[in-house]
Amino acid sequence: METKASEKVHCLIIGSGPAGYTAAIYAARANLKPVLYQGIQPGGQLTITTEVENYPGYPEGIQGPEMMVDFEKQAARMGADIRFGLATKVDFSATPHKVWIDDEKLIEADAVIIATGASAKWLGLESEQRLNGYGVSACAVCDGFFFRGKEVAIVGAGDTAAEEALYLSKLCTNVHMLIRRDEMRASKVMQERVFKSPNIKVYWNTDTLEIIGGKNVESVKVKNNKTGEEQIIPVSGFFVAIGHQPNSDIFKGWIDMDEAGYLKTIPGTSKTNVEGVFASGDVQDKIYRQAVTAAGSGCMAALDAERWLGEKGIH
Ligand code: NDP
Repeated sequence: METKASEKVHCLIIGSGPAGYTAAIYAARANLKPVLYQGIQPGGQLTITTEVENYPGYPEGIQGPEMMVDFEKQAARMGADIRFGLATKVDFSATPHKVWIDDEKLIEADAVIIATGASAKWLGLESEQRLNGYGVSACAVCDGFFFRGKEVAIVGAGDTAAEEALYLSKLCTNVHMLIRRDEMRASKVMQERVFKSPNIKVYWNTDTLEIIGGKNVESVKVKNNKTGEEQIIPVSGFFVAIGHQPNSDIFKGWIDMDEAGYLKTIPGTSKTNVEGVFASGDVQDKIYRQAVTAAGSGCMAALDAERWLGEKGIH
């Protein structure tokens, strides 16, 4: 890697979802002169959702991409320096911390706020991509409401799938739960709740072949991988709940993480194991994963960074 240029900044924020922009708003107002790099998906996961109805302050709801434009505008108005670029490598062995952007530009930062988010895993079907946002979703809490009184399918068998199936079962007439093996990975208590729900139908040993629909999802074609039997289930919504991947690869070896790659923070704070490096949003949260909780933790990270810089007398 050839470093073409370098720059020293006081507070560097990596990521542009609700956590990153909220951290930028707070850091800018605290005069930390934050520089924020947006990554490959400016706005983060919300830019691939449609309507957001559960973020307080938008009584009529708002489109996810539009909301993220509002976040960005607010951060910019407060004075955050928002830039396009992807953090590709870090060296947290000493302060100032080193972060490389697009493999070429070196940023040296007194404090770093990581807000790189997580990405939903997808099955990888062409129809899943084509109908994404038109009945295909990776977030029942975000999009379940649009399927009130309708039939939906959900694929996955972990705690998230179980939780989301239960959530959907309260809104939808029937939830068809597609499980690829003959058992579920979810905790026993979650499994029992699923089995006790009269309107959740579990399909064991079942693979999804295709999601069918022109403009919107109309049905799903599945196959029993033991018997080979195929069937078409009419549904209006298709939820994918097969796990998330935290965007934490570049921090391996520097920041403590769990076996799935979620960054570890000291409970009740955004502090990581490296002094002056803070983590917020979905990259450190595998439980809640909501825009509002990410924004809240971005605020925490900015306040923790401000306090840390003050304690160290770094101006
Ligand atoms: P998990 O990795 O635990 O589960 C993913 C599920 O998706 C597995 O059942 C897996 O099947 C299935 N899957 C993966 N790929 C495919 C595929 N291509 N086709 C069909 N099915 C597939 O992810 P979760 O998001 O459920 O959970 C992540 C972590 O967060 C876990 O540790 C979980 O316990 C935790 N969590 C805790 C909650 C709570 O405590 N309330 C709530 C939500 C999550 P297979 O089993 O065959 O591998």
